Amino acid sequence: MINEKAIEEHIRGILAALGDDPEREGLKDTPKRVAQMYAEVFAGMNYTNSEIAEMFGKTFEDGLDTEMESDAGHCPGRVVVVRDIDMFSYCEHHMALMYDMKATVAYIPNGRVIGLSKIARVCDMVGRRLQLQEKIGRDIADIITMITGSDDVAVTIEACHSCVTARGIKKTNTKTYTAELRGQFRTDPAMQFYIR
Ligand SMILES: [Zn+2]
Repeated sequence: MINEKAIEEHIRGILAALGDDPEREGLKDTPKRVAQMYAEVFAGMNYTNSEIAEMFGKTFEDGLDTEMESDAGHCPGRVVVVRDIDMFSYCEHHMALMYDMKATVAYIPNGRVIGLSKIARVCDMVGRRLQLQEKIGRDIADIITMITGSDDVAVTIEACHSCVTARGIKKTNTKTYTAELRGQFRTDPAMQFYIR
């Protein structure tokens, strides 16, 4: 579990190392505030991917027109896409905020479907870790597969990284796009239409 007391101590040390006075009026409660904020924005670090899958994993029988099912048990022509899910995260290289982040998650149901709001909750929790944008896509895809049993999953993510936009080369409008394509989303270019 996240150790808020230890975070407070270290933030106080960073403030002193920056040459400021951690005891001055504006800063004296800062270590506590940062520790509380970290506990919230890094809450996903308390759970593994399987624990997140369990947490939001309530599924429903896909009771729709079963006569559409092929011999393989798949339902051809059916895809679920949740587009532009707002989320945020922090990069593990700089502990810097990744913002204006949107995820699009698609999967081909394979008998079990997940509530649509649960997909957004999975994204939110995966973002609440020290992350890499590519890793966020992999984590979300892993969890969606655990919950739905479908191997046909795609996750695309766009985000601004404050470690790029606010420091170094200062490319302020730069956005990073990543795609995690699995199963039919990887092998069938026509399926990629859904996640653009
Ligand atoms: Zn970074």
